[in-house]
Amino acid sequence: MVNILFIEDDPAIAEAIMLGLNRLGHIVSHRPDGNTDFDDALLAADLVLLDLGLPGADGYEICRRIRTRSAIPIIILTARSDDIDTVAGLEAGADDYVVKPASPRVLDARIKAVVRRSAPTTPSTETLPAAETFGDLEVDRASLKIHKAGAQLTLTPTEIRLILALTQNPGLVLSRQQLLSAAWDQEYLGDSRIVDAAVQRLRSKIEDDPAEPTFIETVRGFGYRFNHQPR
Ligand code: CA
Repeated sequence: MVNILFIEDDPAIAEAIMLGLNRLGHIVSHRPDGNTDFDDALLAADLVLLDLGLPGADGYEICRRIRTRSAIPIIILTARSDDIDTVAGLEAGADDYVVKPASPRVLDARIKAVVRRSAPTTPSTETLPAAETFGDLEVDRASLKIHKAGAQLTLTPTEIRLILALTQNPGLVLSRQQLLSAAWDQEYLGDSRIVDAAVQRLRSKIEDDPAEPTFIETVRGFGYRFNHQPR
């Protein structure tokens, strides 16, 4: 059961989707546009389902507005399937998109996947080796010490949490939102650009050449990927 804030201006589409999602056990709170106040609904929600074409502020704008104060998962509902719209939506901070008309079953699967993915990935040291080596980088999860080429690095707690989150998922793209919930306070409602700034700082410490990073790769429009597998 997921608490969904659903922003959609077309009454027929809104009713059909709400009915379908209700039947699948979800609780849906509906708003016909992004201009009406939805702060309370946003606080109560687990996920936002957002139409792109809306009167007044469009879906991209609302997405950006939500992202300035919340890392809540956002799925964009779009009638347009071209790649430009998709990338623009993901850059505005959405986690996924579904093209209309969308069946409730398809929506349900995507909703569950996004909620699962955005669950805080606090490093669970029980299932991971206490220490791993990636290239010339040694990550000791037990002592929280990071060494590069044998020398211990001076990292802030945030930088340590960031590198733990990245290295526990080597080769996988992590969104800014996922890194935000993993490395910052879970309750932190803020601008995901702080992730970019922290990645830049971390790169200046772990990369041979921060301008040509080999450990932390930027995946445009999505987030970051740690590029080394453990030795
Ligand atoms: Ca619409």
